Amino acid sequence: MEINQTIGSTHQIELLLKQFSNSKTPHAQIFTGNDGCAALALAFYYIQLMLCENIKDGKACNNCIPCNQLKSFNYPDLHFTFPFSSTKTTPQECSEFRPVFVQELKKSLYLTHTRWVDSLNSGNKKLTIPVNESNAIIHSLSLTRHSEKPRFVFLWQPEKLNTNAANKLLKLIEEPSDNTYFILVSHSLKNVLETIQSRCTLFKVPDNSKDEIKAFLQVNTKLTVKETSNIIQQSKNIGEAYDLIDRDPISEENDKNIVLWLRLLFKKDLIGLVKWSEETAKQSRESISHQLETIMQVFNKTLSINTQTKTSSTYASIIELDFERFSPLINPLKLPQIHSNLEKANQHILRNANPKITLLNLSLILSKHIGKA
Ligand SMILES: [Zn+2]
Repeated sequence: MEINQTIGSTHQIELLLKQFSNSKTPHAQIFTGNDGCAALALAFYYIQLMLCENIKDGKACNNCIPCNQLKSFNYPDLHFTFPFSSTKTTPQECSEFRPVFVQELKKSLYLTHTRWVDSLNSGNKKLTIPVNESNAIIHSLSLTRHSEKPRFVFLWQPEKLNTNAANKLLKLIEEPSDNTYFILVSHSLKNVLETIQSRCTLFKVPDNSKDEIKAFLQVNTKLTVKETSNIIQQSKNIGEAYDLIDRDPISEENDKNIVLWLRLLFKKDLIGLVKWSEETAKQSRESISHQLETIMQVFNKTLSINTQTKTSSTYASIIELDFERFSPLINPLKLPQIHSNLEKANQHILRNANPKITLLNLSLILSKHIGKA
């Protein structure tokens, strides 16, 4: 999905554009609204508007270099900070969790706190932003920038900054270096330290209307009319609706295609894999990319089963698959390689590589890494 998946936020986008035309871009801004509202999506779109080289009729082009870098969350001068479960035995900086965060953002910019907790497999542990992350921000801003373009610190949930972490950032937020912007997204403004709030401009984002949620569901899911109306009744914004539909809304056909692929990979059925790659390559790039991302979740889930991690999953199973039988066939040590190959293939697909060749290549590599040797 594009970054400007901000259905129903036209009015907010107009307000943001006004800031630009008045050259009143604040150096620190808090986008605030309920968990699951368009705040995160709008904050991203705001960055895109600041970077896009061909804004037309108030819209980012989605095509220029910075737009493409943002779409793949690879803009080099963008530091991500978000809460995570910090213990003495786990890493203490966001960079360690960045791949999971980006994976979630790619699925939806309506990421909710619940969904984030779930994707971290952190059980009931409290998520925070510890002081080490503030040091990481300070370090990141001390490095030479990659271009003359603006540099950003994107901080999701400043309410989770512990006091030391917040205090360390005060001076930077008050007087960031030239062309550097702090973009904060809060879902609980009352819990953001006053000292942080007072240094930022506020941008309030309302929940979505029922019509907006409906429009989003109609475009992005294949739910029946009854299912759609059930979800609309239960949700006050798109993020909540998105969580209620259980998971990424890919079609049943895609699920079946993924299961078929896994079976062929396990059997190391080369003829089957060639045919599968040919057939799958006929789908849209977005649909293929979606399936590759789902496969990544499948592998993550096998890891949590392999390592007996208890997850607080609020979602049903990712796809119809017998995970108990499937998991022992994956060697956890191979997961980093599997991930990096999937990630690479996904990027190739999104960058106009030949899908048939990319998928076949990937299948051949993966069949070596999974199943019996
Ligand atoms: Zn652009």
